[in-house]
Amino acid sequence: MENISHLTEEEWRVRLNPEEFRVLRQAGTEAPWTGKYVDTKTPGTYSCRACGAKLFESVTKFDSHCGWPSFDEALPGTIRYIEDRSHGMVRVEVRCANCDSHLGHRFDGEGFTPKNARYCINSISLDLEPSSDS
Ligand SMILES: [Zn+2]
Repeated sequence: MENISHLTEEEWRVRLNPEEFRVLRQAGTEAPWTGKYVDTKTPGTYSCRACGAKLFESVTKFDSHCGWPSFDEALPGTIRYIEDRSHGMVRVEVRCANCDSHLGHRFDGEGFTPKNARYCINSISLDLEPSSDS
């Protein structure tokens, strides 16, 4: 993975397509049910679309029926959490710890899985690398 935390927003604009830039660098949200990984069950590892840092294992992905890929656990040390008070709510924004790009939000206490957490992540913020033994 690249250390690209020094990139300027203009340099990001060149590296990413306009929709990736809007979500990853401007904390946008893709429309529900439109992302390429909403229903993906392929075994593998999800990495940050912007920098390639590994973020989530497919075994932690579950069906939340919320319209975005959902995971109940992130790989240790890969996530930066920020309190987000936009849209009249208090939510926990989830960013890539390596490049500080926006990934989505974390919700706790919903009871979807025993870990009781839901990382609600934009597909466009992720890249799935399928496991080689699948
Ligand atoms: Zn990243």
